Amino acid sequence: MFVAQAENGRLVTLRDHQQAKALHERFVCPACLRPVGIRNGALMPAHFYHLGPPCAASEAESLPHLLGKQWLATLGEQFGYRSELEVYYPAIKQRADVVWLRGGKRTVLEYQCSPLSVEALARRTEGYAKLDLVVIWIAGPRYFDRWPASKQAKFLRYTAGGFQLLFLDPQAGVLSQWTLHADHIDQRLQWPNRVQQRRLDYAERLVAEAKAVQAGLRFREPKVMALQAQAAKQGLNVAGVPWVVHQQLRHLPGLVLPEWQLRTWWLLQFQTAPIQKAAEAAFWHQFSQVRTPLVPAQAVLEAVRRQWLAVLKQAGYLQETSLFWQWRQPPNWYATVNEKLQQLR
Ligand SMILES: [Zn+2]
Repeated sequence: MFVAQAENGRLVTLRDHQQAKALHERFVCPACLRPVGIRNGALMPAHFYHLGPPCAASEAESLPHLLGKQWLATLGEQFGYRSELEVYYPAIKQRADVVWLRGGKRTVLEYQCSPLSVEALARRTEGYAKLDLVVIWIAGPRYFDRWPASKQAKFLRYTAGGFQLLFLDPQAGVLSQWTLHADHIDQRLQWPNRVQQRRLDYAERLVAEAKAVQAGLRFREPKVMALQAQAAKQGLNVAGVPWVVHQQLRHLPGLVLPEWQLRTWWLLQFQTAPIQKAAEAAFWHQFSQVRTPLVPAQAVLEAVRRQWLAVLKQAGYLQETSLFWQWRQPPNWYATVNEKLQQLR
């Protein structure tokens, strides 16, 4: 950490090695009031550390975490905010990594580099909400992947721009904002003085998807077996699930079941009769255990649902009336995965 309390009670923020060298007082942690020392080596920025075990308000410090906090503080200043590092809020016993201040408005930035459970992230977000503070969560290097999945879901946020994730690579000095569209991701890369846009398109891997379903059956994955049991009641085989369940997915992280499985459950429930709109809307509630603490489950499911209905409509399977979704023709199931793959060729 960069901030500690001196014996006279004043808070000292470490800014560089020079300053750290000149400090010879005793310091304590502003959260737990236990003694801290100064580490002033060559590899990391000068920082305080608990002489004993770190307290609950302190994240284990790593080089990316220290650099990231400094980087975000600097970025805030370039945006015209006043930045404060490690602001401790005794009422909620939380230490914000960085706070940006302007005109009486405060924005908390949490830069997460260590593991953190979904529950802990939710709890810390609620803590800030009690103080009327908005918190922006930014994921560190351990959360970098090519495509967002369950590991990134806890950072998913919903803004006017849509579903977004934020990542900071402090060594490269770049903050990236990902906006998750159905068929692509817009990446906005922010250096302190430069912005660049990139687009990443999802490629449909239909053959691989079909084979993955078959593998799920072969390895008796419980979620796939539950689907298979339901399909069997209708004389169907999940290995031959219609192609449309793999096509044009919404690709949002945090769902309790893979999107193709949600779509398959939906087909098994609704494919044999006209679909009452109220029943269709109610169907999605059973999957509301979404792992996205910053976004209501219903918002995620609604996006998945809309995409699915749009795909069925566009493909000519469904048409909409005021009370019903009506089948023009339900999608075709195949007897086996081989029959399904042959149809693709
Ligand atoms: Zn402490």
